[in-house]
Amino acid sequence: MNFVRLADPVLAQGDLKLLRDKAELCAALEPARREGRTIGLVPTMGALHEGHLSLLRAARAECDVVVMSLFVNPTQFGEGEDLDRYPRDEQRDLRLAAGAGVDFLYAPSADSVYPDGFSTQVEVEGELTGALDGDPGRRGREHFRGVTTVVAKLFNSVGPDIAYFGQKDAQQAAVIRRMAADLDFPVRIEVLPTVREADGLAMSSRNAYLSPEDRERATALSRALRAVGETARAGSLADGLEHGRRVLDEADIEAEYLEARDAERLTPAVELNGRPILVAVAARVGDARLIDNVLIRPSDPTSISSDHES
Ligand code: AMP
Repeated sequence: MNFVRLADPVLAQGDLKLLRDKAELCAALEPARREGRTIGLVPTMGALHEGHLSLLRAARAECDVVVMSLFVNPTQFGEGEDLDRYPRDEQRDLRLAAGAGVDFLYAPSADSVYPDGFSTQVEVEGELTGALDGDPGRRGREHFRGVTTVVAKLFNSVGPDIAYFGQKDAQQAAVIRRMAADLDFPVRIEVLPTVREADGLAMSSRNAYLSPEDRERATALSRALRAVGETARAGSLADGLEHGRRVLDEADIEAEYLEARDAERLTPAVELNGRPILVAVAARVGDARLIDNVLIRPSDPTSISSDHES
């Protein structure tokens, strides 16, 4: 494999090129843009796992040019969150990205993304960013402001035709969809299903924080979500949520939230009402704060999925 020092501004690994700033990115994408080739973007914070790879493979299958961004965005981490210890292994990410067929890996420094004098924020208002993770007692709106600001910058600097996100972060995907529509970004947003471990645990870079015992307890999150869906189907959403809470209690997990919401607007859902319902959970398990969700689809309330709403 053709491996060049990471310090090189443009690193070639197989056909993958590593780009460190916007000017390099712009120059690298210029021929594709000029020739009207489709550009796919997969934003990530690295520490790649099968969830990320599923997005990269989808982009590879659908687009002429695949750009993956790798940026642990400091502005979406709150006080006391895990910014400093967030898992980072750029060499491994490069190898995995190359294996998934990525053409350009854009890994800018924080200074180049937020140079001196940076003063602009992009914020989606309302329930979309104020509920669930956006609740002031949890990560808060500032988290989503950090996400939308950096994703807007990525959309502007990459100019993707299609951008890929995971249903694992359902609220983030809904917020980005809203932002792209409201600000007329000429990009199609694709949201792909959550990839899970064999025992149901949603893949996450933060699973690395789990001790073996907590790793086992963490399976209660996906079991609780499934219980909500199954009991809601047989009785009511309230019964379903009650059942889900019992599953978490049995694993000695105190949820930050276990809630049913309209999948698109994130307004509270009290019953199955013919619209897709998002059942979302967040909980601290040992050293990790984990999130997960499932969708209850209107067409067939017996089907519960980690799928995106199409
Ligand atoms: P992150 O690196 O955690 O910021 O995630 C980058 C992208 O990968 C986001 O769009 C996530 O929703 C997506 N993603 C993370 N985990 C999964 C998963 N288990 N399945 C599918 N997509 C995922």
